[in-house]
Amino acid sequence: MSEGQAGFLSAAGWQRLAAVSAIALAAAGGAPARADGGEKGHAKNVIIMVPDGMGLADVTATRIYKHGLDGLLNFETLEHIGYQRTYSANSVITDSAPAASAWACGEKFNNGEICFHGDGRAFKPSILELARKQGKATALVATSTITHATPASFGAHVVNRNCENEIARQYIQVTGVDLLLGSGVDKFTSVKADACGTVGDLIPQAKAKGYAVAYDKAGLDAAVAAGGKKILGLFGNGGTVPEYLRTPATTEPHLPEMAAAALKVVEKNRSGFFLMVEGSQVDWANHAKDYPYQLGEMLAFDDAVKVVRDWIDADEDRRENTLLIVVADHDTGGFAINGPQTALLKAGEKVEAGWTTGNHTGVDTLIWSQGPGSKALTRAIDNTEIYGVMVKALGDAKDE
Ligand SMILES: [Zn+2]
Repeated sequence: MSEGQAGFLSAAGWQRLAAVSAIALAAAGGAPARADGGEKGHAKNVIIMVPDGMGLADVTATRIYKHGLDGLLNFETLEHIGYQRTYSANSVITDSAPAASAWACGEKFNNGEICFHGDGRAFKPSILELARKQGKATALVATSTITHATPASFGAHVVNRNCENEIARQYIQVTGVDLLLGSGVDKFTSVKADACGTVGDLIPQAKAKGYAVAYDKAGLDAAVAAGGKKILGLFGNGGTVPEYLRTPATTEPHLPEMAAAALKVVEKNRSGFFLMVEGSQVDWANHAKDYPYQLGEMLAFDDAVKVVRDWIDADEDRRENTLLIVVADHDTGGFAINGPQTALLKAGEKVEAGWTTGNHTGVDTLIWSQGPGSKALTRAIDNTEIYGVMVKALGDAKDE
């Protein structure tokens, strides 16, 4: 409220405001705030945001470019910090499939496996499937194909991450993920079988199941404005246009715009939601050893975190009942800052840096988090433990 408006408040109005503030203060010191007065089916939201392939030096370099030597990126201001081991079931160096599957399904998988054991062992339902079972909205957002390894681990079970047609089929026909925003038109309209033998046009089926289908930012905005609960947003093939290559003519949404669109849809579900947002191309930039590429993707990812933080901070109920986890699946490239050795840097300036490899590395990755259960993420943990923290957060919602 502006000061001008405050001047028109009656004495009774001020008393009401004071009473509300007292309730909020009491809630902050004790039990979680219950804006709905304790009604059953209280919303509990879980949001996991993934800068794929981001190491700590990526954070430092982006921070210096954005703020200078001091100041913090948006995800650095989350309450808790810890770190995780990233190895897969069969390798010190993981790829994104078992790395995301460890979070999504709670155990180690072999490289290439998407929440599926090639040797026939049983696997657990994904955190997204558990959330859906509780009546929550579910959403996957990425700047890679939406059928790429990280989002796939939350919404599909396949032996081979290259089975992207099959992953698309499972999203629509089996898992029923409410919101899918990313690249990969050709995975949903395939004419050639993938490694799992899956082929076919899924768009008519998606429409029959109630999905609004969008192919650019204008289409996404229209679908959100139309109020639909299910949106399939597919922006080009292969990946969305990298930030540093975008022009005013680019019609695809930026990652923060996709995150905002997803929140506008899933927030309508009174039971809450599960949302995964991936800055997929931080990984690709590090594979390419391309600093301007990395910087563009990192800044977009951090802006997406700001969108999510602002959404959470807009409401006391959201603050108390939303678990937010920002975690990189693995480091890519061994990016290191080598200079300048004898000078300082200001905002807008770039560090001197290099990569030790064009592949992933085996170093641990950081976890930033806040909200219910996040205190368990303040230690040196295994990546599989994040599953349990998210499951517990969902379980708490059920208990209420
Ligand atoms: Zn990679």
